[in-house]
Amino acid sequence: MTQTHAVGIDLGTTYSSIAWLNEHGQPVTIPNQEGELSTPSVVFLDGDELVVGTEALRNAIAQPARVVQNAKRFMGSHKVWKIGEHRLTPTDLSARIIRKLLDAASNDVGTVSEAVITVPAQFSDTARHATIQAGHAAGLKKVKIINEPIAAALCHVLGSEGLAFSELALDQQLMIFDLGGGTLDLAIVSYTNDQVRVVASGGDLELGGLDWTSVLVDLAAERFTAEFNDDPRRNPESHQALMLEAEQAKRSLSVRPRAIITIQHDGQRKSYQIDRDTFVVRAEKLVRSSEAIVRRMLKDNNFGWAHIDALLTTGGASRMPMIRERLQRISGRTVNTSLSPDQSIAHGAAYYAGMLLSNSEFARTIFNSQTSARLASIRQQPVNSRSLGIMIRDEANGDRHPHWLIPENSPLPISKTHTFGTVVDSQMSVRVRIVESGAGPDKPHTELGDCEITGLPPNLPEGSQVDVTISYDNQARVHVAARELTTHRSTEFEINRPENFVPVEGRSMPQIPIAPKPAVSRKSARAEKRESKPEPQPKDSMAEALRALADLTDSSTDRPVKKTSSEHIEATSDMLLRCSECDGPLNDNGECDVCLTDTQQLARLAESEEDRDVPEEL
Ligand code: ADP
Ligand code: MG
Repeated sequence: MTQTHAVGIDLGTTYSSIAWLNEHGQPVTIPNQEGELSTPSVVFLDGDELVVGTEALRNAIAQPARVVQNAKRFMGSHKVWKIGEHRLTPTDLSARIIRKLLDAASNDVGTVSEAVITVPAQFSDTARHATIQAGHAAGLKKVKIINEPIAAALCHVLGSEGLAFSELALDQQLMIFDLGGGTLDLAIVSYTNDQVRVVASGGDLELGGLDWTSVLVDLAAERFTAEFNDDPRRNPESHQALMLEAEQAKRSLSVRPRAIITIQHDGQRKSYQIDRDTFVVRAEKLVRSSEAIVRRMLKDNNFGWAHIDALLTTGGASRMPMIRERLQRISGRTVNTSLSPDQSIAHGAAYYAGMLLSNSEFARTIFNSQTSARLASIRQQPVNSRSLGIMIRDEANGDRHPHWLIPENSPLPISKTHTFGTVVDSQMSVRVRIVESGAGPDKPHTELGDCEITGLPPNLPEGSQVDVTISYDNQARVHVAARELTTHRSTEFEINRPENFVPVEGRSMPQIPIAPKPAVSRKSARAEKRESKPEPQPKDSMAEALRALADLTDSSTDRPVKKTSSEHIEATSDMLLRCSECDGPLNDNGECDVCLTDTQQLARLAESEEDRDVPEEL
């Protein structure tokens, strides 16, 4: 199988498309088998056959239970759709969509075995990995991913003046406003010395063109209900049909002052004229939300409009005049709408595919020399999409919360060290729990893994220093090293989430010393309860969580960092306790889940429900 082209794929929440770079370095969208430039990201199980695209979307009305939409929202999760005999994961569904695009491409330009697929800047590593897997499952031998705003920026940088121009005049800071079907993705991208990188990202995973469609659905349905005293939204088929009507009307309203929506429901058929002004008034809260998200991203990242050289819009829903007008008003500048709302992301991905190929011999066979040279001159700086840190316990109130060592969008590779203190006198072990931030400041963080340093000497005073170093390589792998500074006991490992990180081959497991009986001097109520339990033993599962890394190669360690007295990491002495009855591990209350009676277990469950808002439980 020989790759003949640089190919980029925009795997969108609602629409997907594929493009290739011609020999002049111009991206060209490849139409699907139905002749459309965008394919609805919708999958329909027709009998035993999976159908993707517009045909699938049409069936959303007649057979909604056999249709899946918006699978991208669930990438990286354990969600499964059961349709007929099939059990489909978000990765399976994405693979089907990619497969359809690749089939169209192979008819048009020949076999495609390598491609760049775009992902939102805010996608977690797990979601990124799921995207790569989907590409492989669709038949691609090699898959690279790129952030959607980077793709948009490449399109601007390479596309607006063409590859024939050696350089865009100045270094620039670009704001990319991408309003798609289901999400608003925002990013600030810097373009400096021919290097592009995301410097800030934000957005809303639950705000998109669909919400504007719903406004029109409601407007028309309210009129129908007033007239016939029967709400078409209550019937799934009438509702779906109305949504498709509203979708068309919304597109019309982007270019015309009024549009017609026809409702067919329970034997009645009625058309309603909706004018743009009414639509604008009813959608004001959505526009205001978009505005607030833009403002918040600027504020969260200490940016002002003065730092933004160009505001670029993309995403189908950015065509709505109410969006463009509001952006213009809040930014005080002309919004740059030169990017194609539907194609810029796939085109940018094709440019990136070209950049990746540009240094190869092979590139010379598919691009002219000017194109090759220009593509080779641009670089993309990888960044991490989420902040990384460890859970610490606040000395003042005992609350646990994340302490971020590496903020999101830091250029990779990166390594940061911070010094923390032990929590109690004579602490025998230290537990390090690595966490990653959620998609946005108000979203819960997730725990990536944990490890511990055990066998610390007796009599270590509370507040003894422990250095924790987190390193992120440019393959998005996380390495962690923790060192107690009195005894120099240390542990180094790589977080190894099977679905996310690649294990280090050929490294041995660390020898974890047996922790002797802890002498905990400052007792919490919980610790008191645990005192009657037998001697602690190390948990094998802890050892499982470790992967030894003999040599951490990163040299960019950022130190020294001052120790803040209120930052303490977990004492794990008490975590190692086991049940005196069955020798099983004890829960957070120092009790054994196996040996508790049913009534006790129900009481615990009720307690833990109340505890829900403790962040580390999420
Ligand atoms: P995604 O990247 O989320 O798949 P797209 O960027 O393709 O989404 O945008 C799809 C959204 O854009 C849909 O909600 C669609 O209704 C909307 N859209 C497309 N064209 C127009 C238009 N002319 N006016 C208003 N909205 C539009
Ligand atoms: Mg998109």
